Amino acid sequence: MSDETVNTADVETPDEIGVDPVCGMPVDLEVARENDLVSEFADRQYAFCGAACRDRFLGQPIAYAIAGRDAP
Ligand SMILES: [Zn+2]
Repeated sequence: MSDETVNTADVETPDEIGVDPVCGMPVDLEVARENDLVSEFADRQYAFCGAACRDRFLGQPIAYAIAGRDAP
């Protein structure tokens, strides 16, 4: 017997609204792009509410990238 389950849990594509991984604020990606407040790390895009948060992230991207995920 096969007990295979098709896992389609990866349907997470918030393309319009992102969350600032540094401060946790919701960020409009379009606005962030216009202001150069978007950064890519590990194949994911991160948007920031301001240059201060972006610079913090760039200083320690791994710490914030992991914190921004739904880690158990
Ligand atoms: Zn922020």
